[in-house]
Amino acid sequence: MKLLLDFLNVSNWTLEKLEALFRKHQLYGYYSYYNDRKDFYSDYYDTRFITRKFPQRVYFIEVSDRERELIRPDADVVFPENENGYKELFAYFKDLQANWVKELQGTVKGPDLDYINKIGESASIRFESGKKPGTVVPIQRRGYTTTFEGFLEYDYIFPFITGQNDLYNKLRFCANPQCKKIFLYKVPKQKFCCEDCRHAYHNRRKIQSGYLAKKWREGREKGLPPYFK
Ligand SMILES: [Zn+2]
Repeated sequence: MKLLLDFLNVSNWTLEKLEALFRKHQLYGYYSYYNDRKDFYSDYYDTRFITRKFPQRVYFIEVSDRERELIRPDADVVFPENENGYKELFAYFKDLQANWVKELQGTVKGPDLDYINKIGESASIRFESGKKPGTVVPIQRRGYTTTFEGFLEYDYIFPFITGQNDLYNKLRFCANPQCKKIFLYKVPKQKFCCEDCRHAYHNRRKIQSGYLAKKWREGREKGLPPYFK
């Protein structure tokens, strides 16, 4: 679920933020080739991905010189230096974030089995034997069918498979109106995602000047999570 939460808390998408998400959650290296059109082939572990929204397009976060040589000039790829190419994707991410927030809010009340079954199909999840006899471990099929959406879905479904679905009851939005990030609480009365937010909220009347005012201003400049805009 951590990937999903990190994904939801990104506002004002940039390639750097996307790259950080890939690094933190080790989404690198999932492809040794990307589709069946044979536009190019590479055995590099790399940082490309596809989406269901734009199924013919491959996004690169990093790309090696050798790989560039192998890519057909007319292949539908977006390279890291092409900021505009990512704009459309990031607009889509904003919609995706809003949909996921709705889904998580529903999940707090309980699992939607139909939805989970649908995800199981589309996220290409299969099972293999676990270390303990009689247990199974879900794995996501590596290869050309894996999409960015699939990463998120796998992350969503994982707690249900491993019996940790009570995590979903611990989801909460930060009560600091300047933040509103989604987080997992550690104690039930926790209302804020972090100490800074708790402090900022409780001192909100005193903060017309001083460092908190500056902090809030910085927060506004950074932007709220996109599903609140
Ligand atoms: Zn917060």
